[in-house]
Amino acid sequence: MPCGTCFQCLNGQTNICEKNSPVVHHGAYNAGHAGLERTTYQGQGILRSFNLGTMSTHTIVREPAAIKVDHDIPFTSACIVGCGVMTGVGSVLNTAQVKPGSQVVVIGAGGVGLNIIQAAQIAGAAKIIVLEISDIRIQLAREFGATDLIKVDPTDLKLQKAKKQVWEITERGADYAFECTGIPALGDAPLLMVRNAGMAVQVSGIEQEISIDMNLFEWDKIYINPLYGKCNPKIDFPKIISYYKNGQLKLDELISKKYRQDQLSEAFDDMLNGRIAKGVIVFDI
Ligand SMILES: [Zn+2]
Repeated sequence: MPCGTCFQCLNGQTNICEKNSPVVHHGAYNAGHAGLERTTYQGQGILRSFNLGTMSTHTIVREPAAIKVDHDIPFTSACIVGCGVMTGVGSVLNTAQVKPGSQVVVIGAGGVGLNIIQAAQIAGAAKIIVLEISDIRIQLAREFGATDLIKVDPTDLKLQKAKKQVWEITERGADYAFECTGIPALGDAPLLMVRNAGMAVQVSGIEQEISIDMNLFEWDKIYINPLYGKCNPKIDFPKIISYYKNGQLKLDELISKKYRQDQLSEAFDDMLNGRIAKGVIVFDI
């Protein structure tokens, strides 16, 4: 929830609002959100995921954190907009601002990667080349708009073989490459895939210390690590929902499975083992 008045908000970077900073992701309590005393368990205030709260039938948020949506989109589809969909779509349209006719590489076709693919298609990319290890996700990538699919050999740890295949398709390297695996060793992989003066985007939130060969930055490459697809919820959520209504963005199809509250363990197990693109917990209320 952007404050609208800090240095970053006034510069149009509401996703990195100084009063709603990334420290939220590390569990710090943020005074800009609905107070802890409003959510208690056995008399104690509890931290809620992203200061919103999930896996509950109701929650309390401050008014600026609420976005109105029409009833003609199923709740199960609307509820996934606010994280993986926004991160993927925003990284393409807001951060990289992918140009029509460009060549895009997507490393990893999980929940975020599939939305990178969809947004690259909305942006008019000519080539959307997806690197994936799993057959299930390769099939999904195809359904979501990938033009070229490269099945990554599990022994190709630094993606050197995959890079050669990308070069065969693109001639000089891609214009943009998006890393969506969350695997720390692949933090430098998007640099490997882009041409000189191309843009490498690390979408998956890798935060570990890794070594990067500085040659990979040559020449004139841009490496960017956007937070939440430079999201401004008031502007971007309605935009995403309009893409959905126009048939440009699949949301219903992103949900591989719905779970009841008593199936949480199964839901987490499916997510961690890559069996689903998106899982949604549905309450029977
Ligand atoms: Zn702010």
